[in-house]
Amino acid sequence: MSLQATCHVIGAGVAGLVAALRLAQSGRQVVLHEATPVAGGRCRALPDGTDNGTHALMGANRAALRFLSDIGARDAWVEAEPEGLPVFDLADGSARRIAASPLAWRDPAKRPPGLSASGILALLRLALPIGDRPVAAAMAAHPVLYRALIEPLTVAALNTPGHEASSARLGVVLRRLGRPGAGALLVARDGLGPDLIAPALRTLEQAGATIRFGARLRAMTEAEGRIIALHFGDDSIMLQARDEIVLALPPWEVARLIPKLRVPERHAPILNLHFAHRGKGPVRFIGVLGGLTQWVLVRPSGVSVTVSAADAEVEEQAPDLAPRAWAEIRAAAKAFGLPGDWPESPPAMRAVKERRATPRHAVGMPPQPLRQIYRNLVLAGDWTWPRLPATIEAAVLSGEAAAKAVPR
Ligand SMILES: Cc1cc2nc3c(=O)[nH]c(=O)nc-3n(C[C@H](O)[C@H](O)[C@H](O)COP(=O)(O)OP(=O)(O)OC[C@H]3O[C@@H](n4cnc5c(N)ncnc54)[C@H](O)[C@@H]3O)c2cc1C
Repeated sequence: MSLQATCHVIGAGVAGLVAALRLAQSGRQVVLHEATPVAGGRCRALPDGTDNGTHALMGANRAALRFLSDIGARDAWVEAEPEGLPVFDLADGSARRIAASPLAWRDPAKRPPGLSASGILALLRLALPIGDRPVAAAMAAHPVLYRALIEPLTVAALNTPGHEASSARLGVVLRRLGRPGAGALLVARDGLGPDLIAPALRTLEQAGATIRFGARLRAMTEAEGRIIALHFGDDSIMLQARDEIVLALPPWEVARLIPKLRVPERHAPILNLHFAHRGKGPVRFIGVLGGLTQWVLVRPSGVSVTVSAADAEVEEQAPDLAPRAWAEIRAAAKAFGLPGDWPESPPAMRAVKERRATPRHAVGMPPQPLRQIYRNLVLAGDWTWPRLPATIEAAVLSGEAAAKAVPR
């Protein structure tokens, strides 16, 4: 019989990686079980090294940035647009910079179009924690400001179309963006593999944790309010009296394992198009209005387009998407004078469709289970952090909270 209790963390997404690291750093014996051959979950590198999708952090994401520092990866996340986000509007060909944080709007050159006194009042109302209605309805009197700033922000942060998205959830994001430094936008310079997952796994191993890939938790046995056995594909683990579990899984997996729990059931897709075109110069991140493309990330390793809340777009075929997106990228690249050649015909492109990228953040609070479900089982995962949209920040905070909830 093992003398030291074991903490079993199930799921090596960001939440599981954080929980496992915090537990291992506090001297606990940790085993991290991951169903697939790789870590990262919805924030991972594909086998050829491409990111599953562009992941951006904001300066407001303090917990995520702290985690990056802890794993020695903070410097690999670079601020892409310190002068304000470049935004290209396909409707009129205009190219301007818009600061994400209201604190920077003191500079008229960084203000969003349509920012009148009544527009500011509308934003303040959105930011206050009162009531909940669709963001588009809340901004109906300010169509210019909505189109230029609030709709792209809603779709990016909540992964939900504006006519459906919760103003209360967006309000949380707006309040956080009001803090100094909060509007800085950071991306992984070389990709999620080298700049997040590999350093996290390295740090975990140094902290003494064991990682089991290809270990899918299929079922659990419960007796008298405790989990007494974990059943994987080929093996079962009988738990000792003081063993603990952190279940860091997406909602649909938790619902399968613990059917009595109510979890978010509606999800929204994100589409990413990765073009084999090497960006020259520093990493760039450009917003595009009025087309298929929402955001373009230009790195030396390639050019990636993000389409969030992509309900319709994920149903389209890659060969139809590539020329449309590439024409938009070229126009934006030219408008902002990006260096290098931007040939007319699209380079090779790979489409990655994440159909359940995040829960939908529609009006009304989603089901929020307690963190502690059984006496020796706590939950983690982006969707379990009630105060934020399902993001890396929420995943990190949930992992930290789960580790704290595990008794010594
Ligand atoms: C394309 C895309 C773009 C995104 N962009 C951003 C962004 O720009 N900024 C941002 O902050 N967030 C972004 N997100 C959201 C972010 O990726 C997630 O919020 C975060 O990664 C969730 O982490 P998690 O650990 O909670 O869950 P997951 O990543 O889902 O991790 C769960 C893990 O558990 C494993 N697993 C599942 N079932 C089992 C089982 N039965 N047994 C063992 N293991 C199992 C999975 O394989 C996975 O590794 C994006 C998401 C996607 C898909």
